[in-house]
Amino acid sequence: MKAADGVYIELEDGTRLIDGMSSWWSAIHGYNHPVLNNAVQEQLSNMSHVMFGGLTHQPAVELCKKLVALTPDGLEKVFLCDSGSVSVEVALKMALQYWYAKGSPKSKFLTLRHGYHGDTFAAMSVTDPDNSMHKLYKGFLPEHMFAESPSSRFGESWNPSDLDSVIGLLEQHHRDIAAFILEPVVQGAGGMRLYHPEFVRQVRILCDRYDVLLIADEIATGFGRTGKLFACNHAGISPDILCVGKALTGGYMTLAATLATKHVADTVCSGEAGCFMHGPTFMGNPLACSVANASLGLIKQGDWKTDVTRIETKFAEMLPEFAKLDCVADVRFLGAIGVIETHEPVRMSEIQQAFVNEGVWVRPFGRLVYIMPPYIITDEQLTNLLMSTHKVLREHFSQQ
Ligand code: PMP
Repeated sequence: MKAADGVYIELEDGTRLIDGMSSWWSAIHGYNHPVLNNAVQEQLSNMSHVMFGGLTHQPAVELCKKLVALTPDGLEKVFLCDSGSVSVEVALKMALQYWYAKGSPKSKFLTLRHGYHGDTFAAMSVTDPDNSMHKLYKGFLPEHMFAESPSSRFGESWNPSDLDSVIGLLEQHHRDIAAFILEPVVQGAGGMRLYHPEFVRQVRILCDRYDVLLIADEIATGFGRTGKLFACNHAGISPDILCVGKALTGGYMTLAATLATKHVADTVCSGEAGCFMHGPTFMGNPLACSVANASLGLIKQGDWKTDVTRIETKFAEMLPEFAKLDCVADVRFLGAIGVIETHEPVRMSEIQQAFVNEGVWVRPFGRLVYIMPPYIITDEQLTNLLMSTHKVLREHFSQQ
């Protein structure tokens, strides 16, 4: 890679590719964006980093205020951390410390099959055991509970029996379960499944009924990707704890945040420890906070909404063409996420080169070819991206 600009990434040899991945959900405004560049440059000449213990600074304060204003109601306290996986670790630790502070420790988590929450140990322990190859780490990983993931698809009818497995586990184990962690509406790396928001709404009710905290992992879905600012908005709920990352800095650098309700944060801090026990060296890095502030400023201007709707409309128009290919088992889309599921896994090294030859950057895994471009992609660029993807799939599977 040599450079990246707008919706294009440029390889060493000068080949320019239309980016269909947004660098794994993050570069929502495109690359080399003048507003984001400027935010980093200005902050760089002022202060690139300072420890965040005993000290604070304006970029972090501004970011926390912005996050509280944008995220679902009730999330009032923000913990800044280094990456998505760390924000999940932080969320899980918060939940454990919450119950410890209340004098009734609970040590298990409930989550969903096909979920993905990161690659660090606690995050892996709540990630689908088959997808994440848990068996490699058996003995190191704590064992938690996995409910069946919902089968009711987004936009289709709701089947209440989707909750049976969740209800069964909650009834039996709620006294041990500190929190239920899920990716609302879109299960990403564990299968690109787009499920019914009613499931999330019902899980919120069940968590309250069984006195279990609800953690929403919106690291992938946050900041407009699903057509709403947060996927929780599709269900009209607020979690007790929320994780955001990836697009938080517009994909410029690593930064994530874990938000909690005042009740959760106050309880955590009321215990023996007196504060939340986590303090990463680069917590609240000013460069990352500044570019996140600039990115949230762009979000606030509101163009994302028209862009994501435009992308969704194009998916609705063009993805049905993929469903006609023999190699394709299913197509689905939501907001700026388009998914083509094939019958057979792709042959990775071959298909990657084929995409590059067509002038596009798409990186499938297994039987999932998915497209989630920067929101700024034009209709023409998106049409090219989809037509190229169609051609690559057609040829790839006819050569077997
Ligand atoms: N949760 C979800 C839903 C994710 O999609 C990811 C990243 N793919 C993570 C957590 C982990 O984030 P990171 O890669 O920044 O550690």
